Amino acid sequence: MRFDARSLVVPGVQAIEPYQPGKPLSELAREYGIEDAIKLASNENPIGPSPRALAAAQAALGDIARYPDGGGFSLKRALSDKLGVAPEQITLGNGSNDVLEFVARAFASSGDEVIYAQHAFAVYELVTRAVGARPVVVPARNWGHDLAGMQRAITPRTRLVFIANPNNPTGTWLSRDELEAFVQQVPSHALVVVDEAYFEYVEEPAYPDAVRWIARYPNVVVTRTFSKAYGLAGLRVGYGVSTREVADYLNRVRQPFNVNSVGAAAAEAALADEEHLQRSIAVNRDGLRQLIEGLKRLKLPFIPSVANFITMDIGRPANAAYESLLRKGVIVRPVASYGMPNHLRVTVGLPAENERFLTALQAVLSSDHGERAATAGR
Ligand code: PMP
Repeated sequence: MRFDARSLVVPGVQAIEPYQPGKPLSELAREYGIEDAIKLASNENPIGPSPRALAAAQAALGDIARYPDGGGFSLKRALSDKLGVAPEQITLGNGSNDVLEFVARAFASSGDEVIYAQHAFAVYELVTRAVGARPVVVPARNWGHDLAGMQRAITPRTRLVFIANPNNPTGTWLSRDELEAFVQQVPSHALVVVDEAYFEYVEEPAYPDAVRWIARYPNVVVTRTFSKAYGLAGLRVGYGVSTREVADYLNRVRQPFNVNSVGAAAAEAALADEEHLQRSIAVNRDGLRQLIEGLKRLKLPFIPSVANFITMDIGRPANAAYESLLRKGVIVRPVASYGMPNHLRVTVGLPAENERFLTALQAVLSSDHGERAATAGR
């Protein structure tokens, strides 16, 4: 039988560029034989999760022969207390990516338009194409979202607008006043998804909490995650907050047991450990400052970030520098797939990891410079 998947796959899926995850440490060990590598590539928490989350995960292992609570009762109740919303307003996801996909599946399909910004988080394009909707990409302004441009891009066919606040991979953010002014004028035939994956890290007084807007603007959906500041990326737990009505539709496209029992137990315990969260935020604040000082010393322009990563312009194709850094056991993220070929994104690590990255980057850039000079002289 000659089977040609290409002729059968739906057009939207055909057009998807596969998501490129950060290289795992185990792969670097396999490919390069480097055992003491550091990974600053996926915006994970360098101090890991709360010990209370770990203990809860371990305890939950005892019961993994059973399906999880498909309704996520206990975690939703904890989130409901913390956020001041009803449990029925919460949709649990296998990571917040899962929730982003629910929104696209429930509210957009072929012929609809989905708006997001240039350089915005890659999953918006992925879920948009997967449901056959048309991506409308609005050029960035100063690497961030151009809200006026996004407003002009809204048409009668718009069903979703994705806003990353802050955005990955740029680290840019929108203030309460500018984002609320935008949300206010989005017509009732479109939903606004405010992706707050890095919410806990942001310390700017003018940074908004979009959950507070849902009561006034029922077309707002907010997504958050336990993967970043809570240090549970490997367990895949995220959530959406919306009106009850929207949550009801999101839950219809959700797989019954999308969040596993170990992840749900760990997330609930993590939520209760405010001290660990504050420590994570403090480590990030100091690490970001350390990276910024280092980048200034190296005279590399960077995009100011409020998240747990920072993206810099190394003034030359960054893929080569990424490879050289890999050989030195430092995994970062090149962002050429985001239309930023000369930029590298580095996640804030522990102080020694940040230092190792800066030293390795300096070595890579100066040896590259030497090679270029030699080539130019030939
Ligand atoms: N939104 C943004 C902006 C992100 O950077 C990420 C993680 N890369 C996510 C959502 C999804 O994270 P998770 O699925 O782990 O919750």
